[in-house]
Amino acid sequence: MTTLDELRDWHRGLRAQFPIITGNPEQAYLDSAATSQKPRAVLETVQRYLTTGNANAGRGTYTWANATTALVERTRTRVARFLGDPAPQQHSGVHFVSGATEGLRAVALDWLPRHLRDGDEIIVPFADHQANALPWLEAQRLLARQGVRITVHELPYDPASHDYDHHALAELVTGRTAFVAATHVHHVYGGDMNVHRIRAAVGPGVPICLDAAQSVGHLPVDVAALDVDFVVFSGHKAMALPGTGAVWARNTRGPAFAPGGWSGTPNTSGIAGLEAALDWLDAAGPERIRRWNTALAARLTDGLRTLEPYEVLGCQSSLAADSAVQQREGIVTFRHRGIGSNDLGFVLASHGLMVRCDGHCQARAGESESSVRVSLHVYNSPEEVDLLLSVLRSL
Ligand code: PLP
Repeated sequence: MTTLDELRDWHRGLRAQFPIITGNPEQAYLDSAATSQKPRAVLETVQRYLTTGNANAGRGTYTWANATTALVERTRTRVARFLGDPAPQQHSGVHFVSGATEGLRAVALDWLPRHLRDGDEIIVPFADHQANALPWLEAQRLLARQGVRITVHELPYDPASHDYDHHALAELVTGRTAFVAATHVHHVYGGDMNVHRIRAAVGPGVPICLDAAQSVGHLPVDVAALDVDFVVFSGHKAMALPGTGAVWARNTRGPAFAPGGWSGTPNTSGIAGLEAALDWLDAAGPERIRRWNTALAARLTDGLRTLEPYEVLGCQSSLAADSAVQQREGIVTFRHRGIGSNDLGFVLASHGLMVRCDGHCQARAGESESSVRVSLHVYNSPEEVDLLLSVLRSL
């Protein structure tokens, strides 16, 4: 019995909970790396909040305001618990943001300048999403204006395995290495970037900031096991509403993360939806979600490999292959050797197949040509993957 057969009933039950999916049977949404669809539980929670208790947080003497303050504080702990923090709030903290971009910028522009000293070195990824590259360069410029010079090294990336090169990384580390930024799951190549090997390469004392935009909601993310110092994610890619996300900070290596000066009104309805989304994901089971998405991606990769004109980017492993080097999660990116990616995108859209076609916001060491990205989630079905393959075969 394959993973997809084994999880079929479970998947059907979950898929039925997405009104936008069940209401559009002729469409296949294959762009979840950009943003996820939302289950009914999240939509209903947000509607209930806005129709029964909407108020501002932290400033009231009446019931709705107090309940909203409690909601915000409870959801901070909920985020920490979802990320496997064994002792939420002992040292650690959770800060709400609009998405991973804002979260990474907050670490780069608020925390990093307070942590770094003249002559320090940082190591950051340039083959990853620009949201996890540009802010660190911005921090370098900000510090330079204050007379603090830091060196920025590229986190070595191995184009053969599509993982970071952990040996080269270990060689880059010096007594002045003060910070490393990395990505959990690559947003173009779909690989799980083996974060535990980064900690092993850099040693126990260096703070690591993890961009978990493509892993939270897709697989278990456990801060205790990963031993990272920041986890930054987009709630809207994890079943919550647009404009939501969070930064979890361990706060034991370097100064405490407390950005923002005077804080304004939080995104209270978004936070209500985020709490509901994390409850929904925990009930669905992150490990099962991972198995489903990985199996769908393997079906697609294996199918594409039988179609001569297509080239799959990134790690080549499927479920059948040895995944000790690199495990592909639910993202598959490819090109046709003769047809441009944007043209391919228009053809696929005319069959109701919604994919992403461009350079995928990759930072400066990224692909020079655009490609087609298919990103899967638990509401996607094997039939949608098969429809995609049959359209691609017909071109
Ligand atoms: N990091 C990665 C790996 C991403 O894939 C994305 C979005 O696609 C981001 C960061 C930025 O996320 P957001 O648009 O929610 O700020």
